[in-house]
Amino acid sequence: MSRTHTTERTLYCACCGRPFHRANRRGPAPLYCSAECRGQIRVRARVWRARSAAGRGHRHTTPDVRRA
Ligand SMILES: [Zn+2]
Repeated sequence: MSRTHTTERTLYCACCGRPFHRANRRGPAPLYCSAECRGQIRVRARVWRARSAAGRGHRHTTPDVRRA
């Protein structure tokens, strides 16, 4: 998806994909329509990490990001 416009009209939840309107226009645009979805993503990310970490032969190598 290339819907990265941060218009303050309609946002799409990164969790359930539902369009929603942000409550306040100040601050960073929310990614989720509700706190529940935010929690869902958190849990999912955790699971995904655990899976990828314990994946079959797939080693999660942390990129060494150095700023010279
Ligand atoms: Zn949602």
